[in-house]
Amino acid sequence: MNDLEKLALEAEKELFEAFSYIDSVARTNQAKVMDIFAKHRVSDTHFVSTEGYGYNDFGRDTIEAIFADIFDTQAALVRHNIVSGTHALAIGLFGLLRPGDTMLSVTGKPYDTLDEVIGLRGEGNGSLRDLGIRYDEVPLLDGKLDADGVKNKLAEKVKVIFIQRSKGYSVRPTLSVDEIGDFVKKIRPLTDAFIVVDNCYGEFCETREPTSVGVDLCIGSLIKNLGGGMAESGGYLAGTARAVELATYRFTCPGIGAEGGATLGQNKSLIKGVFYAPHTVAQALKTAVFAAKLFEKLGFEVSPRAEEKRYDIIQMLSLKTPELLCAFCEGIQSASPINSHVCPIPDDMPGYADKVIMAAGAFTQGASIELSADAPMREPYVAYLQGGLTYESGRYGIINAAKKVLEKYQQS
Ligand SMILES: *Cc1c(COP(=O)(O)O)cnc(C)c1O
Repeated sequence: MNDLEKLALEAEKELFEAFSYIDSVARTNQAKVMDIFAKHRVSDTHFVSTEGYGYNDFGRDTIEAIFADIFDTQAALVRHNIVSGTHALAIGLFGLLRPGDTMLSVTGKPYDTLDEVIGLRGEGNGSLRDLGIRYDEVPLLDGKLDADGVKNKLAEKVKVIFIQRSKGYSVRPTLSVDEIGDFVKKIRPLTDAFIVVDNCYGEFCETREPTSVGVDLCIGSLIKNLGGGMAESGGYLAGTARAVELATYRFTCPGIGAEGGATLGQNKSLIKGVFYAPHTVAQALKTAVFAAKLFEKLGFEVSPRAEEKRYDIIQMLSLKTPELLCAFCEGIQSASPINSHVCPIPDDMPGYADKVIMAAGAFTQGASIELSADAPMREPYVAYLQGGLTYESGRYGIINAAKKVLEKYQQS
């Protein structure tokens, strides 16, 4: 047995409790999904495909009802042809905001790909800013939502209060559902604004979603957690009837809303995906915890730490130098099921300001519920690792990445 494998086994022994906790969350969420499937009498008739306008798509309507129940909401829009998480977020924001309104981000600057949606970069493409929608932000205060800071901004005709649950590509903690709930309790009595959560990477990491604690609209991608590794594309918005309705008019158009949209054979993979999601998220969480433990043992800074409570599937590993960061990503890529022979290099990406290196040997292009690592090439050279359809393959990838990092380190 080589030294890394020994270290891995030692890590797993120490992680017994952390893994048990992850399993318990998965069990609760799986039971919830099973109950919801039973309630909606999910059957093979829901897999039937529609084409053309896609009116009366029974399976599609049922998927949306299932998502609404998972989120404890009145409604949901769940479509395979929402292109990405960014697209889903844009549908929500353009659906809710009108000229003269303000979007107030209360977790500092949102995820990089929203820059051009909001209009922080680029001009004349029909961003929120081009349409006369103002943007303002309140940074986190010591890593926590700053309710007092937000109160002082509510005079500005705030229509959307925007919370990013997960850290994304920034060095900050991920918010728990409890913390979001406490914030909503303080802010809700003071404003009629829609409280919207970018829920990417957070789904099923806890036993409740932000909409269960008073948030109006949760938005995310189906090639992340809730697609369970089965959905081949798509996004969702779940929330109050009015918030979702307004979003549907942006997704299609006023007058059509959620009534149209052929599913082209995708219903089964979306239904199968949400069935798998509690388990798949647990596999990804275990992979993240294992990576944290192994790299802690190797002397790297990691966040969250292995045994810390987690609220999303992202693991940050501080590789310190561009060389070690690239070696890490090469190690993830070369241990992937798909395109293991390809070598990732930093490059420009649509929607991102810095060059980004991405390791993603996924069955579904860009699916980050599958083991993947990405990193903007900027200080402090942090790899954002996420996913792992099975713990065994995730573990295999992490050990390979550790091997590449150690080899590179010894060369320098
Ligand atoms: C992934 C992600 C998004 C959306 O990214 P897409 O690549 O467009 O799906 C938005 N916010 C956060 C926090 C994310 O992690």
